[in-house]
Amino acid sequence: MLVASVIVDINTRALDDAFDYLVPANLAAPGGLEVGCAVLVDFAHRPAVGYVVGLRESTPDDDLGKFKLISERLSPPYFDEVSARCAQWIAREYCAPLSDAIHLFAPPGGAPKLKRNETGDKDWELVEPGVGPVDDRWVRLTQVGRSYIPPKTAVKQQALIEALREGEMRVAELALEVGSVNATIKALEKRGIVSIESRRRIRGVPGELPSDVRIPKLTSGQQAALDAIDSAMDAACGRVVLCDGVTGSGKTEVYLRAISRVLEQGGGAIVLVPEISLTAQTVARFRGRFGDQVAVLHSRLSKGERFDQWDLLRSGGARVAIGARSALFAPVHDLRLVIIDEEHEGSYKQDSSPRYHARDVALHLMRERGGTLVLGSATPALETLANCQLRDDWQRVVLPSRVKEQPMPSITIVDMTQEPGGSHRELFSREMVRALLEVRDQGHKAVMFLNQRGYANFIMCQDCGYVPHCANCSTSLTYHERGGDGPSLHCHHCDAHSSAPVVCPRCGSPYLSRSGVGTQRVQDELAALLGPDMPIIRMDADSTRTKGAHEKLLSSFAAEDRAVLLGTQMIAKGLDYPDVTLVGVINADTSLYLPDFRAGERGYQLLEQVSGRAGRGDLPGRVIIQSYWPQHPAIQAVAKHSRNVFLSQEIPLRRELSYPPYSRLINILLWGAQASEVEQEAKQLAGRLLEALLADSRYADVKLLGPSPCVFSKLKGSYRWHILIKAAADSQVAALINSVLKTRKKNGQGVSLAVDVDPMQLL
Ligand code: ADP
Ligand code: ZN
Ligand code: ZN
Repeated sequence: MLVASVIVDINTRALDDAFDYLVPANLAAPGGLEVGCAVLVDFAHRPAVGYVVGLRESTPDDDLGKFKLISERLSPPYFDEVSARCAQWIAREYCAPLSDAIHLFAPPGGAPKLKRNETGDKDWELVEPGVGPVDDRWVRLTQVGRSYIPPKTAVKQQALIEALREGEMRVAELALEVGSVNATIKALEKRGIVSIESRRRIRGVPGELPSDVRIPKLTSGQQAALDAIDSAMDAACGRVVLCDGVTGSGKTEVYLRAISRVLEQGGGAIVLVPEISLTAQTVARFRGRFGDQVAVLHSRLSKGERFDQWDLLRSGGARVAIGARSALFAPVHDLRLVIIDEEHEGSYKQDSSPRYHARDVALHLMRERGGTLVLGSATPALETLANCQLRDDWQRVVLPSRVKEQPMPSITIVDMTQEPGGSHRELFSREMVRALLEVRDQGHKAVMFLNQRGYANFIMCQDCGYVPHCANCSTSLTYHERGGDGPSLHCHHCDAHSSAPVVCPRCGSPYLSRSGVGTQRVQDELAALLGPDMPIIRMDADSTRTKGAHEKLLSSFAAEDRAVLLGTQMIAKGLDYPDVTLVGVINADTSLYLPDFRAGERGYQLLEQVSGRAGRGDLPGRVIIQSYWPQHPAIQAVAKHSRNVFLSQEIPLRRELSYPPYSRLINILLWGAQASEVEQEAKQLAGRLLEALLADSRYADVKLLGPSPCVFSKLKGSYRWHILIKAAADSQVAALINSVLKTRKKNGQGVSLAVDVDPMQLL
């Protein structure tokens, strides 16, 4: 008998394994049941949807009498065996319910579900996914039809046949031309004058293919990168190549060549880019080279469009997937290459269950499939740089210069503490004002960047830039207005706290502020400074809320002769306008103060990316960075065009405090509407975890910190606490957490829990 291993689609941590079911004879024939099919099964006296993750012949050891039969096959296969194993790995590695992990591989638009039936006599009702393939009806003249002459009075018939003489048409198209046609077509079909055929329609195929695609001769840096990728692909064992290349060094061209080779060999590839840089321009570059072999997957497509792109990959009609994070799970045939561009981006970490990191999952997948992982960035993550140093199967290739040898922009750091103005400082330094006026007078363009990742939850001295930090954790302390003994400062990692100082502990200034600056205010001040002839285009969360607003704002910036583009994080990446001569950073520091051990790394990456927007064309570019903390290594590194200035300070700090890449963190987050319940639950869970850790010598070096309230101790009406676990980088502590959580009993009903393995933020 054939036995299927089935993951039951019930969302609970208690079900952490697949279950065996017998395959009925009607499904045992070839083409019947395959790995990846959704099925209907009986589970604990109720029907359930499940996914087949394995098939095997029964052995004498199987107690077949205990196995239940699969009731029904519900779908064609969504994934293969390697993907099925990958889903199980994700669930274990990221402490997530299996059903969450398996859903990653289901088609966009969803899979069949069971819903409790409130009114009917059956308890459960099967709900088919709302999205699937759609067909078009095509009409054409038959042999007979071609010589048919309609009667003079049949006006509609005449028009219809006239239209069809040009060739076959979709019914919908005909209706646009001739008006309602259904009855006429039906009548003509009956008489054998036209024939109708249903054909699959692919929704939203992206644009025309660019016709003139020139393939440049590679620079030596590009060639070196491609050679490294080639030999990694020959080795076919999950090796990693990091393309460590400055902005504009031609990394995308390297990706294109590598994909081209995979396609020649009959394989497939996946390219991940951050959602925000997945623009029409990016897609056109890939489609220009590989045409219809490219499928595009991102959240701005409708569900139907995404389903069609996914299905094109599943059928093998397209072999290259380009998309945001979740495109990693697309059903590409014979996947041999995964490319992750801007690999340091935080958006590769999913912030809902399963909280996977696309880079780590891609590595696992490429090892399993014998493929190659290519990472690209101008500012690689510290974890990635460390891996390249420590591991034989990770290789770093440097692309040190821009393709046309354009010089990197000149960088000026303005020390804001030296600007005049006392506690009521101007937004713009004297140097920035001069440069902005120059851009206006010479008719060039400027990009002004306002860092809004700081949440004004810290305090900063307006005179010396001092920000209080926790002595234990090296993260900034969070300011609390109200507390038992007046305003206080808290560390949200170790729970240390003290009362807030009244004057700056460093310089004695009374001007300790916690004010933030908004984009609106900056826009007003820019307008006042530059006058009416200088258009100011503002790009932030507010101005880009509507669909397509993002691209509209950018193209209006492109169309102006002279202009300022003012924006937040969203303008840091991917902008490629050759006539930008000035990049101004209004407040370089705010993200450096975030109470997060990655604050310095993020700050450095952000400034480096923003600076990369200047001087991309023939005009030289300059960057002015305003800072209250000009000696911070992240800022110095950007100023000196030297990553090592940053790394040489940051690496020893990470090692000393054992943060990643020298450890692995797991953040367990609890939240709920009742503060006391959340606190109690957090303390109880921490106690149980500690007990389990102490009981097992394999976890002797694991540290448990907290529980403590989160930096955002209350969000959207929920009180939030967290427990932070620090373990060795190769620790298997997730397994222990899984086993503790599996038997967790909630006291209150209202406390939710999330486990974030390798968290990207701890707020
Ligand atoms: P990156 O991804 O490293 O920022 P891109 O791949 O976007 O850089 O390349 C920047 C520009 O240089 C693009 O317009 C690209 O077409 C062009 N380019 C890439 N490689 C070459 C080359 N070898 N010779 C000339 N131009 C190139
Ligand atoms: Zn001070
Ligand atoms: Zn601390």
